[in-house]
Amino acid sequence: MSDINKRLEKQFVQLQIKGLIGVYKTVLDNAINNKLNYLEFLSILLEEEILRKQDGSIKAKIAKAKFPFIKTIEAFDFSYQPGLNQQQILRLSSLEFIEKKENIIFLGNPGVGKTHLAVGLGLKTCSSKYRVAFITAANLLEELQIAFRGGMLTDRLLYYSRLNLLIIDEVGYMPINKEQANLLFQLISMRYEKGSIILTSNYNFDDWNKVFDDSVVASAIIDRLIHHAHIFYINGTSYRLKNKLAKNNI
Ligand code: ADP
Ligand code: MG
Repeated sequence: MSDINKRLEKQFVQLQIKGLIGVYKTVLDNAINNKLNYLEFLSILLEEEILRKQDGSIKAKIAKAKFPFIKTIEAFDFSYQPGLNQQQILRLSSLEFIEKKENIIFLGNPGVGKTHLAVGLGLKTCSSKYRVAFITAANLLEELQIAFRGGMLTDRLLYYSRLNLLIIDEVGYMPINKEQANLLFQLISMRYEKGSIILTSNYNFDDWNKVFDDSVVASAIIDRLIHHAHIFYINGTSYRLKNKLAKNNI
């Protein structure tokens, strides 16, 4: 390696942009081949670093969101759920719902892709400037109860209210008692018209009284959730079942 290359690479390290060490030679070759001037070369090189930094911050946001798995909207097979409005889901991918602080509700049987769609939209949201968190209803309620009993509820609610998108998965798998319902109501009220929620449930709203001990609070929660919301009822069959049926040639 020539002295100038060595010096340049040391400078990249000193400036904490050492990712450029792996790419500057290619950028330089391209610039020479395409007869770019110094300014154009410099701008392309800096663009490389910007892309690298953005990529790093998206990855950090995805890690922070704590998704249960990584599945994109593009990987969703809409032909398997013909009842689902594909155009509407794709429109939501533009993230206008985050700007408008609207909610999205996915209701349907296990295995129809509710979590997949929630994660897919969550991933899209992470690619933008927004903050996202994914949590199951059971974990959320446990967390809120611990915070409440430890006198830390306000702090916890503040943390959740600062997110641009909160995904609450699997409302309905566990019964929700009076205290938990109250805590959930406080959280939903705090985010109301301030930040989006994506919520999934295996129960339609009509059946939420089977999940909640307190049907009055349940109604109040539903009321706030659905005021500005896109609601999807997914009635198809489980995708997990599809794979099983195919394997057994049924
Ligand atoms: P739910 O949350 O409704 O119980 P999931 O979203 O967890 O269902 O889906 C179960 C599994 O099947 C996941 O691995 C998911 O990626 C996959 N899946 C469900 N529906 C589809 C679909 N239409 N296209 C592709 N994969 C799907
Ligand atoms: Mg699920």
